Amino acid sequence: MKKFVVKVGNIKYPFDTKEEAAAFLQNSKKPQTRTLAIPQMPPIEVGASGPSAAGWHSVADFLACHKMGQLRYVRGLRRPVHQMFNPFATGILVHAGRGTWLAHHCRTDKATRAVVKAAVEKEVRDAKLPMSLQAERSSLFMIDEYINYWSARALPKTVAVEYEIGPAPFAPNDPFYLMRTAKLDDVGRYAESNYQLCIGELKTTSQSVKSVVEEYTLHGQTMMQQHLWRVAKEGAAKHGPVVGTMLDIIVKGSAKKKPSFAREFIPFTERQLEWFAVSMRGYLKAIVATDWATPVPRNVTACAKSYGEGAREFKVPCEFRDLCKHGRVAAGKYVDKNGRLASQWQPTADEPTPPWE
Ligand code: SF4
Repeated sequence: MKKFVVKVGNIKYPFDTKEEAAAFLQNSKKPQTRTLAIPQMPPIEVGASGPSAAGWHSVADFLACHKMGQLRYVRGLRRPVHQMFNPFATGILVHAGRGTWLAHHCRTDKATRAVVKAAVEKEVRDAKLPMSLQAERSSLFMIDEYINYWSARALPKTVAVEYEIGPAPFAPNDPFYLMRTAKLDDVGRYAESNYQLCIGELKTTSQSVKSVVEEYTLHGQTMMQQHLWRVAKEGAAKHGPVVGTMLDIIVKGSAKKKPSFAREFIPFTERQLEWFAVSMRGYLKAIVATDWATPVPRNVTACAKSYGEGAREFKVPCEFRDLCKHGRVAAGKYVDKNGRLASQWQPTADEPTPPWE
């Protein structure tokens, strides 16, 4: 019996030793961190773009609605789409442009701007789904405005960009399958934190700065980053403690209005991080115990998510709403991880119950 199981997405990989499991997870990541050294400037550690394999996004759906997590990550269901949702595409592209600018010491010369633009264009080319031309153009415009705005102010001293930490545990001696990773947008010393080290987290929003601060003052993503920084070997052990999270907020503009920018510092209390680690362990145990046929609860308060604010607020339904409403009748709208229609399901030892149940 293999003792160490790594769960990536909906697939479990068994190993005999913890070292083999750790090596597998390390090798399954995108290219390793490289160091970008510009003469006479301190070197910055630069990782690959994109989320980490076992980060916040791999648990957030389960926390919102356990059935949503099971349908997406265990049963591998999705609705076939031909293009990435514009807000997601914009978020990915702006992250790529900003990360590249920070990695180049916030320079504003022509060569740096060209490198930033090339990083955004590469992200468009490498994306798993096509991104719209509108998302690409608006992201390049936003990044250009971002550079114009922040380069006229005190610049951060960046230590790392797209920096992956973990796998690390939530309690000492936790088994490997309860460990998690985090991909940090950046780690650096900002003027807004009196040049004390903090974790930088970029947020693009159609809402106000105040709404973003309210949301992330107590939020699983930022708390998980803070916890893992304290325990992962790539975190405090290597770079020293962080004092909190710097939310780097871009409020998207419109046809008539330019984007606007703000940086808001969020501190974390020890009490908060202690109860968070205990809570996360409980949730993670339930998540890793979820198989294809495990009965799990549905949370009907998560069936639609709000975007925008005030008169511009709109709701986006959960991807699985039709499946929860109509069951088998809606199964033809979904495909599994092999691209097969969910309606063509046949019982097997691994998939004994209908995917729509
Ligand atoms: S539609 Fe609602 S109940 Fe169904 S998976 Fe989505 S959030 Fe859960």
